[in-house]
Amino acid sequence: MKYDKLTMSAGPAEIHPRVSKAAAEPILYHYDPAFKQLHHGVEEKLKKLFLTSNDIIIMQGEAILGLEAAAFSCIRPGDTCLNLVTGVFGKWFEDFIHMYGGKVVEIRKDYNSSITPEEVRSAFEKNPDIKLMSVVHSETPSGTINPINELCPIAKEYGAITLVDSVSGVAGSEVRTDEWGIDICITGPQKCIGAMPGLSLMAVSPDAWQRIAASNPARNTFLSMLDWKEKWLTHGAFPYTPSVSLIYALNAALDMIFEEGLEAVWKRHGDCARACRAGLKAMGLSLWPESEFIATDCCTAFKIPEAIESASFIEHLRETYGVVISPGYGELNGALLRIGHMGHTAKPMPVMTALTFVGKALRDRGFPAKIGDGLEAALSELY
Ligand SMILES: *Cc1c(COP(=O)(O)O)cnc(C)c1O
Repeated sequence: MKYDKLTMSAGPAEIHPRVSKAAAEPILYHYDPAFKQLHHGVEEKLKKLFLTSNDIIIMQGEAILGLEAAAFSCIRPGDTCLNLVTGVFGKWFEDFIHMYGGKVVEIRKDYNSSITPEEVRSAFEKNPDIKLMSVVHSETPSGTINPINELCPIAKEYGAITLVDSVSGVAGSEVRTDEWGIDICITGPQKCIGAMPGLSLMAVSPDAWQRIAASNPARNTFLSMLDWKEKWLTHGAFPYTPSVSLIYALNAALDMIFEEGLEAVWKRHGDCARACRAGLKAMGLSLWPESEFIATDCCTAFKIPEAIESASFIEHLRETYGVVISPGYGELNGALLRIGHMGHTAKPMPVMTALTFVGKALRDRGFPAKIGDGLEAALSELY
């Protein structure tokens, strides 16, 4: 690579220097009152981010830990669980349901599509014993979004607990945890929040705690949400040593979000996503999602033009122009490419740069990308 690198992957995303500097601060003893105060402060900021008055727990592993911990904590053998699948992460959750003995009812749509309220209502009518509904809000590998604001209230009507994977949604798109009836909402710092990977951030409702208490999961394990509630939230004792530096960094990223304003941060992600879509379309490419209404704001998925091979294209783009984007993940590998715009990279300059060099690299490979038209179209969405 000749010049600097710009990482516009679908996560983890580049972070602001203020966030990485925070992570470099001296390590505090986790029972130093200053650290305990900082940790509680981060929980309060996360409540503002999730728009919730529910408990916040911060588990000390990448967001997949939070997803598995929720399955471990909520699902008893024989429980019927409704799993909504519009992509790779949605499908993955089925494995967790099976692992903890649950019975799966699935609504599966094509991975360029999204789930409708009618489909969810009909699943509950047919299966009145559903105990839990799991759904991915922003399905990063598909570049799509599910309407959790409409789906979760239906599940609550039928008495189910709602579990939402909003790892790439929160901070990038509107998420109203309490208003929308989300019992367990999970996100991670490494996507739209703009910090580094390594934590699971969870908002947990009283209904979810009731369900967890009734399912009586094992304690003293890394997967135990109850340990965090009973030891830390209730008695001020950490179940084990927290990731001190990651908490510093998360704190700085959250400060930056609230200095800018949460709604302004949502809008910035939305503007960059629209610009990226407009730019790619004007260059002559096709978007992956079946409609722009269901395109996520955290990344833009587009179809790979015929005759271009995904892995070697990505390598060419990185080696020649320094721009890093993501291939399709899992079963979508080879079908689409993704430009991430999340957190620190959901800004006009990196988006315009990514479009320029994606266009140039496509031309190098024989696809006649109309770079000028693409940049004009993107600019007109931004300014
Ligand atoms: C990023 C992400 C996760 C976390 O998984 P990774 O292995 O870190 O990518 C979970 N769910 C969704 C929807 C994500 O985008």
